[in-house]
Amino acid sequence: MLPIVGHQPISLIDFPGKISTVFFFAGCDLRCPYCHNESLFTFNIENVIPKETVIDEIEKRSKFIDGVVFTGGEPALYDELIDLFKEIKEKADVEIKMDTNGLNPEFIEKAVPYLNFLAIDIKTTPDMYKELGSELTESDIKNRLIKTKAILEDNKKIKVEYRTTMYPPLVESYERIYKMFEFIPGNAEYFLQKFVNDKAWSSKARETHSYTVDQLERMVLEVRRNTRKDNIFVRTYL
Ligand code: SF4
Repeated sequence: MLPIVGHQPISLIDFPGKISTVFFFAGCDLRCPYCHNESLFTFNIENVIPKETVIDEIEKRSKFIDGVVFTGGEPALYDELIDLFKEIKEKADVEIKMDTNGLNPEFIEKAVPYLNFLAIDIKTTPDMYKELGSELTESDIKNRLIKTKAILEDNKKIKVEYRTTMYPPLVESYERIYKMFEFIPGNAEYFLQKFVNDKAWSSKARETHSYTVDQLERMVLEVRRNTRKDNIFVRTYL
């Protein structure tokens, strides 16, 4: 069973440049302190939207949407989602985007043939993932992120975006940002995303000040200059 527990019928912001319908998965293998989706950490079976309903909702909107977004939670925890991707592509002329933390390269490899857009949240450097509640070792995190990067570098047909929520305790220095580039494909757009504290589930995160937009813009300029990459941006709306 796929724990899809939420549906936003129309979105103008979740799939860049597209009108989309968005489905939310419950369950996540991380516990980012700044997460706004605490309600999705667990799920009640009564709230699950059956796969048939998901297909119906997409088919009935397919004339006025461009795409479907699967977000979470963590959609890449559920292998059965690959079958749903196949069915969507057979039944509706829509593009598919998925949001993931990038820690399940085996899933990503199977999903890539059906995806048009993949957005990957790289949180911090691998040594800090224990602060996010991960049970994986630093080297496991590193290996998984490297495998994901290699898969995406081999599949140039899908659009790929990486992003980091700029939560100061996890991204406190330029050195940490530069270390994350080891895991980001060169052709992917990379967004430094503003951390918004008021909806964070952890009290520590709620009490933590975010970087200002001015600070983030200065960081982007500095990172562009030092990495000689121009596909790095600030994102403030999420
Ligand atoms: S990976 Fe995403 S859904 Fe999971 S805890 Fe972090 S922010 Fe929340």
